[in-house]
Amino acid sequence: MRTFNKVLVANRGEIAIRIFRACTELGIRTVALYSEQDHTALHRFKADEAYLIGQGKGPVEAYLDIEGIIEVAKRNDVDAIHPGYGLLSENAEFARRCEEEGIVFIGPSAEHIQMFGDKVDARAAAVAAGIPVIPGTPEPIASLQEAILFGKEHGYPIIIKAASGGGGRGMRIVREQGELEEALDRARSEARSAFGNTAVYIEKFLEQPKHIEVQILGDHTGKVLHLFERDCSIQRRHQKVVEVAPSVSLPDDLRLRICNAALELMKNAGYVNAGTVEFLVTPDHQFYFIEVNPRVQVEHTITEMITGIDIVQTQIRIAEGYAFRDPELGIPSQENITTNGFAIQCRVTTEDPRQNFAPDTGRLLAYRSGGGFGIRLDVGNAYPGADITPHYDSLLVKVSSWALNFSQASNKMLRTLREFRIRGVKTNISFLENVVQHPDFLSGEYDTSFIDSRQELFT
Ligand code: ADP
Repeated sequence: MRTFNKVLVANRGEIAIRIFRACTELGIRTVALYSEQDHTALHRFKADEAYLIGQGKGPVEAYLDIEGIIEVAKRNDVDAIHPGYGLLSENAEFARRCEEEGIVFIGPSAEHIQMFGDKVDARAAAVAAGIPVIPGTPEPIASLQEAILFGKEHGYPIIIKAASGGGGRGMRIVREQGELEEALDRARSEARSAFGNTAVYIEKFLEQPKHIEVQILGDHTGKVLHLFERDCSIQRRHQKVVEVAPSVSLPDDLRLRICNAALELMKNAGYVNAGTVEFLVTPDHQFYFIEVNPRVQVEHTITEMITGIDIVQTQIRIAEGYAFRDPELGIPSQENITTNGFAIQCRVTTEDPRQNFAPDTGRLLAYRSGGGFGIRLDVGNAYPGADITPHYDSLLVKVSSWALNFSQASNKMLRTLREFRIRGVKTNISFLENVVQHPDFLSGEYDTSFIDSRQELFT
C-alpha cells in the first residue's frame, strides 16, 4: 500500500483537468505538463504545479517525451503518473520506465498494455477465453494472396484493420475482390504513418452492427468487476460522436451475456485497473469481441453518472494498492454495482459540419456553456479568449446529461446544447442537436451506420 502525495498527469485538455479534479478530492497534489504551444491552455492553470516540457520539440512530441516527463516527475517528488487517454496511455515502454524509476503508473501493467495494444494479440486472448470473435485472420497478413483467399473463403464485404490501430484510423472496407489490392496498399501506408507499423489483418465486415462496450475494473487481489455497458454506435468514420449508457435497446439477457464475456476475458488475463472491452452486436443479437482499450476512455463519464462510481478515483485507489473490499473503494462485490437512469455524452468539437467536419481554429471570442440539473461538463481548452490551435485533437468540451429515462436525458441534452453560445470558432453543436432529436436516435434502434446513412443530420 502506498499513499500518493503528488500525481502528475502526462496529458492535456479535458482529461488532464478531469484527473486533477479526482486527485484534489482525494487530497492529492497535482502536477500539469504543458507544451510551448499550450502555454495558455486551460489545463496548465488547473493543477497545483505546472511545468513546460519538450522545448524545441513538436506540439504533440512534447507530450510523448518519455524521458523528459520522467525527469520532471523525479525532480518534483511525484509519486505516480496518470497518462489519461491517447498520447502515452497505451505505450508499454512508458509504463515500464515509470516502474523502473519507482513511479507508479496509474493504469494496467506494461504486459497488459502490450498485449491489448496489438489487436491481433487481443483477438487471440479473446479466443483463448472462449469469447466469440469476428471471423478474421489469426495473424497479420503477409501478402495480397492471403487477403484474396480470405475473401474467397468468407465472402465480401471484409475490413482491413491496422494491428496497432486506434481512433478509427487504419481501417478499409472492401466490397469486392477488385478493390482489394489498392485498399491493402492504402491501409498499410495509413498504418505506417499513423502508428509506425504496417501490420494489418482482415475481418469479415459486419453490416449495421451496434457498438457495445463494457467498463471493467480490476484490483490487485485478482477481483474484476464490470460497470455495465455503453452504446457507442453513433459514429462518424468509425469514431464515436455520441455515447449512451446503458444501451436503450439491448435485451437484459443479452446485456448480461456481454458483460459476463467481458469479465471472463479480463479475469482470464488477470487485468488490473480500468479497461474497456468492446464488442459489435449484429441485428440478430450475435455479439463479437473487437478490442480492449487498456485505459480510461473519453466516454467514461456516462458510466460514472449511471453507477455513481468515480472511475478515475478508483483507478488512483487501485494504483495505491487498495482492494475493492476496502472502505476507500467500498465495492466488495458485483452486487454493489447498480445503474440508475440514463446518461448521454456529446463530444463538442471545433469542427465545421458544413465543411465536412474540417477542424476550425482561432480565438474563442465568446464562450458560454449550458448547464443545469443533470448536466456534467468536462471542459478542455474553452474560455472566452482561448486560442484554438491546429496542433491537437478538436475536442472542446464534453457535455453529458443524466435523467431517470432516456427521453428525458435526450431532452435535457438538446436543451443544454441549445444554450451554448460559442463565437469565433465553428463547432459541431448544430449537428449534435440534429442527432439527439432524430426519431431513430430516440427510438434507441440505431447502429453504426446511423450518421453516414442520414443526410438530414448535416443540414
Ligand atoms: P479503433 O481502435 O480504431 O477504435 P475498433 O476496432 O474499435 O477501432 O473499431 C472502431 C469501429 O469500426 C467499430 O465501432 C465499428 O463501427 C467499426 N468496425 C470495426 N471492425 C468492424 C467489423 N469487423 N465490421 C463492422 N464494423 C467494424
